[in-house]
Amino acid sequence: MTDKEIKPILGADEQFCSSCGEVIKKRAEICTKCGVRQSSAETGNSEKSFVTTLLLCFLLGSFGAHRFYTGKIGTGILMLLTLGCLGIWTIIDLIVIVVGKFKDSNGLPIKS
Ligand SMILES: [Zn+2]
Repeated sequence: MTDKEIKPILGADEQFCSSCGEVIKKRAEICTKCGVRQSSAETGNSEKSFVTTLLLCFLLGSFGAHRFYTGKIGTGILMLLTLGCLGIWTIIDLIVIVVGKFKDSNGLPIKS
């Protein structure tokens, strides 16, 4: 009976705080116990480089290189097959990247 109290069972939407180990919600930005901000993959910016994404889109955008780089393989292949919708899709992506709204396969914005 005491086992359950010592070892809390994690729910699907829960994780341990990176600082104090308290069970918190996965989407929680800040631990409710110690107040430390979580560096979860669910929050913040993408790990992918903004400059690399921009350059790949600028140089090889019609081949979907920037989409392969950011993990968006499906749309990357589609882009490769259509040559970036004959350049239109590539230009749209380029603009989206420049304004910092382009997201990687985890849905995180690529800004740095
Ligand atoms: Zn904590």
